[in-house]
Amino acid sequence: MLVTTPVRLVVVTDTPGALLGPAEIRDLAGRLGVRPTKTLGQNFVVDGGTVRKIVRSAGVVAGERVVEIGPGLGSLTLGLLDAGASVVAVEIDPVLARALPGTVATHLPQVAATDRLTVVTADALDLTELPGDAPTALVANLPYNVSVPVLLTFLERFPSLERVLVMVQAEVADRLAAPPGSRTYGVPSAKVAWYASARRTSTVSRSVFWPVPNVDSALVRLERREPPVTTVSRQEVFAVVDAAFAQRRKMLRSALASLAGSADRAERAVRTAGVDPQARGERLAIEAFARVAEALATGAPTDLGPGTVGT
Ligand code: SAM
Repeated sequence: MLVTTPVRLVVVTDTPGALLGPAEIRDLAGRLGVRPTKTLGQNFVVDGGTVRKIVRSAGVVAGERVVEIGPGLGSLTLGLLDAGASVVAVEIDPVLARALPGTVATHLPQVAATDRLTVVTADALDLTELPGDAPTALVANLPYNVSVPVLLTFLERFPSLERVLVMVQAEVADRLAAPPGSRTYGVPSAKVAWYASARRTSTVSRSVFWPVPNVDSALVRLERREPPVTTVSRQEVFAVVDAAFAQRRKMLRSALASLAGSADRAERAVRTAGVDPQARGERLAIEAFARVAEALATGAPTDLGPGTVGT
């Protein structure tokens, strides 16, 4: 069920003291009886400088509608509101969701009468709609255990999102931004490339969180772009991506055999797409995956010569 709580606020830009520090975070958590859980990826940012950096890197402008996933105790929400954005914040933990409006009212005391914060108590993965105006940016310190599915789900379901700035585990940031042919290129890199160009911006020390996680984090910026031009659906292309990486070390001819019905059919489709059937999935850009999916769907001719690795 979608539960929304509109809150009326007036926000003064760049208010000193608007952000939460380590003592305030612990105090707030104590008063709410919140004990951060790993299951929900609850590591809260306790450093105002990091919050400012995220807001700046996201390029948030006053008046912009931003969706934040997992506002937690409100560290980043305050930064976004303070920059003049209007925020729809999606939080799975009902205790945190309920407390957020009060935190905003306390830390941005100039607030009087706007409706710039809407809190949605829900699992972000279940959302098919958002209240209010369509957001143009997603800005979040994502819960690490669901960061990639949340990102892909939002890019798919909310086409109004033009930009994304997320903090994720450093290793995930590498994967999201990896180009074809690199060691870290994989399913998340190829699927995100369907929707957007991705760039890893900066590394964030684990010391800016409470509790301190056992991994470093990094910021990733995405800019939406047109998906590859193809006659097949995104789902068909993603099925090829999944099959190619399910057996990462295998050549495409073998990796796609079961999807194609046989290794020979897979080889024909891969050649038709202009890709070397001896190549592995890690060499293919999303456009090449789309060509392979198209060749599989249309039935590939049998008499083509050797192909080349596509891009
Ligand atoms: N934004 C806050 C910050 O920077 O301090 C908290 C970030 S914390 C890494 C992740 C937040 O996401 C937590 O508040 C957690 O409860 C919430 N969360 C976890 N899984 C979620 C989901 N599936 N949908 C929505 N929120 C989720």
